[in-house]
Amino acid sequence: MENMQGIADRIREHPSIQIEIVNGVDDICSVCPHNVENRCNKPGSNVEQFDQEILDRLEVDIGGKVEAKILLNLVEKKIEPEQLSKICEGCEWLELGFCEDGLRERNWWK
Ligand code: SF4
Repeated sequence: MENMQGIADRIREHPSIQIEIVNGVDDICSVCPHNVENRCNKPGSNVEQFDQEILDRLEVDIGGKVEAKILLNLVEKKIEPEQLSKICEGCEWLELGFCEDGLRERNWWK
């Protein structure tokens, strides 16, 4: 959670920072105990499936780099908060409500 907050703070402070598009473990996963040799080994985890669904909706390519503000504008434009319950079904973060609330605010990073 602390790591995720640090990344969110960096984006707020530097919205032009380049974000590399990946499918699977990312910078947020770097301190997670389920991150083993750069793969998520959490039982029942569907992280690649969740990521692919989002990447398809945003129409961005794995391996590309996009400015954070452009990427977050895309998220706000192409994903409705209510869609997360289907896209991210089974993710424990979903139940905490942060993602849906953040999307509903629309401008958490501005
Ligand atoms: S459970 Fe998997 S996807 Fe979630 S933070 Fe840990 S390594 Fe990343």
